Amino acid sequence: MTRRDDGIYDALVRRGMSRRSFMKFATAMTAALALPATYAPRIAQAVATAPRVPVIWLRGQACSGNTMSFLRSANPTVVELLLDLLSLDYHETLMASAGASADLARVATMEKYPNGYIAVVEGGIPTADDGVYCMIGGRPFRDVVREVTAGALATIAVGSCAFDGGLPAASGGPTGAVGVGQVASGGVIVNLPGCPMNVDNLTATIVHYLTWKQWPVTDSRQRPLFAYGGLIHNQCERRAHFEFGEFVLAWGDEASQKGWCLYKMGCKGPEAYGNCPSQQFDAGTSWPVRAGGGCIGCTMPGFWDEMSPFYRRLQSPIPFAIAPNASVDQVGAVLIGGVAALTVVHGTATYVRERRTMASKGRAARKAAAAAATDATPVPAAEPVAAVAVAPPPVMEAPFDVPPAAPPDAEVR
Ligand code: SF4
Repeated sequence: MTRRDDGIYDALVRRGMSRRSFMKFATAMTAALALPATYAPRIAQAVATAPRVPVIWLRGQACSGNTMSFLRSANPTVVELLLDLLSLDYHETLMASAGASADLARVATMEKYPNGYIAVVEGGIPTADDGVYCMIGGRPFRDVVREVTAGALATIAVGSCAFDGGLPAASGGPTGAVGVGQVASGGVIVNLPGCPMNVDNLTATIVHYLTWKQWPVTDSRQRPLFAYGGLIHNQCERRAHFEFGEFVLAWGDEASQKGWCLYKMGCKGPEAYGNCPSQQFDAGTSWPVRAGGGCIGCTMPGFWDEMSPFYRRLQSPIPFAIAPNASVDQVGAVLIGGVAALTVVHGTATYVRERRTMASKGRAARKAAAAAATDATPVPAAEPVAAVAVAPPPVMEAPFDVPPAAPPDAEVR
């Protein structure tokens, strides 16, 4: 980048950023968006010259894990985020003011930037009993969410609880918790599930908007495809061990120390979508599988119910209990061999049965023939035939001379 680069240099000087750190940020965002490196200058240009985006960050039924993820952002750091990209005008956990003055700050931001701020929502939203399970300034959190999202440029739901209710919505939860999509007052919604979400995905989503003036393409559940379009299993660093049938069978065993596949310890990587293996957490330090704990599928809908027990395999068509060390290829070979063996057994049984049937028929035929030859077989009595009147043959005239018949007492000479 040079001084002639379309005002980027001046923008960096204005913001007090070094060229090195800014290009590092632009390159990291390009990678997070799963774009080729050639897009980095375009992203740098857009981010350097774009105004900071006002943000109203709401927090409902949550453990603040997503706020912690935000505070631990590394590429860029939270300081760079706040100074260069975002204007965090309202965040109940981080802002200095509290009570009525905090409420006034939220209202002031909404009035100052009508349809020009981003609403970030963290945590589930209780709807049972008129929303009394989470109140903000004496009002149900549900109503605050409706109010803020109605005037937002877009609403970004961070974390699994904001995505679909998360833990508060799990089986047995009494609060009727739901996700932002079921409460928000329309408009654009981008879901960034995860427990917690990866802050790189939040930053990349905003950078995508600043660069192209449109929100990233999402799947049917409003999850950006750049982050949630790939199966975790397909990106996992332990995948080769899965293919070779090398599995951890007990926590801390030798296979675990060698970093083998956690499939048989309940890893949900084959069922979950996300970019955890490529983005990782804590400045790219690690992610659950690298740490040795396996994936719990936290980016998936209803994961607390659908993906538990987290450390056991869900019901599988493959009987690993019978062959715990079998690889997929080995299981497939056994199944094919079994089918072939059954086919051979069936063919052999059919052949033997046919031979027996033919032999039986031959014996019966020979027996019948022998009985006929010795007349041993009794002839059944004939059915009585009804008498039929038969007319006597007509007397014929003799056509030529025939000697008359001799009288009965004539002497024979
Ligand atoms: Fe797949 Fe999990 Fe094994 Fe990785 S550790 S290869 S995600 S099953």
